This record gives sequence, C-alpha cells and structure tokens, in this order.
Amino acid sequence: MSAEFEVFKTIMDRLIGSARLMVVSDLDFTMVDHDDAQNLSLLKFNALWEAYFRHDSLLVFSSARSPTLYKQLRNEKPLLSPDITIMSLGTEISYGDSMVRDDFWEQYLNHNWDRDIVLEETVKFPQLTPQQETEQRPHKVSFFVEKFNAFEVMKALSECLEKRGLDIKIIYSSESALDIVPKGAGKGQALAYLLKKFKIDGRVPLNTLVCGDSGNDAEVFTIPEVYGVMVSNALEELLQWHAENVKNNPRIIHATERCAAGIIQAISKFGLGPNVSLREISDFQKCKPENFSAGHEVVKFYLLYERWRRADIEKSEHYMQSLRLVFNQLGIFVHPSGTERPLHRCIDVMESLYGSEQGKQYRVWVDRVASAQIGSETWLVKFDKWESSGEERRCCLTTVLLSLKTTVPDGFTWMHVHQTWLGGSGSEDQTTWVF
Ligand SMILES: [Mg+2]
Repeated sequence: MSAEFEVFKTIMDRLIGSARLMVVSDLDFTMVDHDDAQNLSLLKFNALWEAYFRHDSLLVFSSARSPTLYKQLRNEKPLLSPDITIMSLGTEISYGDSMVRDDFWEQYLNHNWDRDIVLEETVKFPQLTPQQETEQRPHKVSFFVEKFNAFEVMKALSECLEKRGLDIKIIYSSESALDIVPKGAGKGQALAYLLKKFKIDGRVPLNTLVCGDSGNDAEVFTIPEVYGVMVSNALEELLQWHAENVKNNPRIIHATERCAAGIIQAISKFGLGPNVSLREISDFQKCKPENFSAGHEVVKFYLLYERWRRADIEKSEHYMQSLRLVFNQLGIFVHPSGTERPLHRCIDVMESLYGSEQGKQYRVWVDRVASAQIGSETWLVKFDKWESSGEERRCCLTTVLLSLKTTVPDGFTWMHVHQTWLGGSGSEDQTTWVF
C-alpha cells in the first residue's frame, strides 16, 4: 500500500460515512485576512470548525503558495490543520498532518508538460519578472507582470507554448501574478480530482463549499454541484469573471463579510450546518443544548480561559464557581513540564491571573479536536491547544477525559487533563501556562 493511499484512508476512516461538509478554501485574503492583525474572523472560523465540524467534515486549503510559503503562513497565522492541502495552484496535493504527497496526481500532470520548454519560451518576454525561487515548482512556472501588459503577454505566450507542443494553462491572478501550469492542473482540476477520488471510495462529501477571492479561484466555482462563496473583499477580476460566466448560479454568492467571516456567512446562507461561532456568543449559558459535544466543550472552556486572562469578561466569582463544579474535585492536571497538580488548584491559579494579558495580543485556540467515546458516559478528547501572545506561540498536545456523570445539568465534567509540549518548544513555566 502506498503511503499516500494509507494517509488518505486514515483521513476517511476518521469519518463515519461521507463527510457532512467539505470546505475548500483559498488562504490569502479568503481564509486569512492580511488586513486584520488580530485575525478575528479566522479565529471565529476556527472555533466554529472545531466545535461543530471537525469530527465529521473535511477542511481543505487550496492555495497558489508553494509548500515553503504555505508553511511560513502557518507559522504566522492561527491556521487550523487541514485534512488535505492543495498547493502551488493545484499542482501539488498532500494529505494529512504529515503532508504526504499525491504522486499519482503529479505523474498525471506530466502529460504534454515540459518545464524546460516553458523556461525557454518565457525568457523571450521581458515583461515577465520571475517570482521568488521557492514558488518555481515542478509543474508551475511563476512570474509577475504589469496589469496593462497581462492580456497581451498571455495571448502571445500561449501561442508560443502551443506551437512547441505543450498543453498548458496560464492563470492570471491578484492583478500581478502570472502562472503557467499544465492544462490539467489548477485549483479547479485538483478539486475535481479529489471529488473523483472520494467517488471511487464511495464517499463523496454530502456538501462541498468552495471559497475564494481572486482570479485563480475562478475555476473552483465551475465544479458541478458545489456551493461557492466569493468573500466580500473578492477582487474585481473574480467578480467580473463571475458576472460573465456563472452569474445565474444560485449556489454561488458574493458575501457581505470579509474573508473567513464570509465563509461562515455562506455556511449559514446555504444551511450547511451550525453557523454561530462560540466566539460570537458572550454568554455561554445561552448555547443551545442540542449542540453540546466534546469538541464544543473544549472550545468553550478555552474561550472562557482567553476572555478571563484578557479581562474581556467581568471579574465575577460566578465563572470560577461554575468551573469548580465542572472540574472534578479529585481530577489531576499533568502539566507539560511533567508535574502534577489537582485540577482545582489550576482553577485557583487561573483565578489569580485575571487580566494578566489585558491589552496584549493574547489568543487561545484549539486545533485537531478528536474525541472517542470510551465508556457509556465517558469521552477521551485529544487536541492541540495553542496560545499566542504577540509573536510568541506555544502549543500543547492535550488529552482530556470528560464524563457525563455530573453535577452539571446538560454538561460534561472534566476528570483529567494531560499535556505535552508540541515540537519541544515549551518551558517549565507553570505560572503562565495553566491549562
Ligand atoms: Mg487569495
């Protein structure tokens, strides 16, 4: 069995049956709002996804970025871990956290493609400025071009390359990037390939939502039967393409919200699932009980933790009292440094840290929430818990034992919490890393 097949199978086996929803999103200015230093809409999406979708849905990122620039973005922004990553404009597909490459896809792209010929021809166009070295990929040759030149260059270049016997596609995007890829590549073709793969597996997602903002996203909106959202900040080039090509498709909307908030808006508009992020709810007692799940529970707790330390909520004994009810009195927290501490002692420490991060860029989020019911009333939940403060970021692989046998109506009791530093980047610090 190939590594790629094995990882694909692991992703699919996580789901019972077909994915309820597959979100396929572009990154720059769609999932990530580079104009929002606080990443609020992204964090809102993260909380929604981990609380309600992670367990039965698929998250796919589809970007023009190479693996190098993609990893760079993940280090800069609080991006969740996708199940599948489509990079370099649909020329590279990889699966899972280990990002195992789909070799079959890349072999397929070799058809009538010759990188050297592309280089020989493009050098004849002085209007083209090569993009940085990391963005030059086996099946993607990338340039910048002035907007006023773009159309003319594309036309002439396309004729040259055709004459040389290549089947290529030129994609112009963000009013500056000109990319040459094999005809069978592109974000749309890569998605079509994935959908075919799911079909062979007998598990096509029940719904697919594609999300984008620029010209290179246009093709994903042509895939049959998908829902689509152009975020409010979508570029004219995409809006114009939409008006000329798919204007009457009611399954595609132009959101009124920017970036990730526009994605949430589309989930709501098309009725694709829960669409109110816990980040938008100030009083968790108003959460509808039908939405309770292990994922919901951990997202909710860590949001409360963030708000307490940021002093975004009032300093009320009520919060700590309810936590003392929710956390088992005999429960133990294993700190990532390896020391043990009663859960109730952790709440005391948390209480003393009210407002310790006030006025700072402090955020807490969880990623890769996975839960398994291990007894009639017991769940084991595993997730990555992230904390960032300005430039600094820390992450712990966290395991929590939750029980429904409880003094809390409609809720879980936290029995045990165990953390391990991820990537060895941790510290012994038990005063600021509490949970
Ligand atoms: Mg974009």
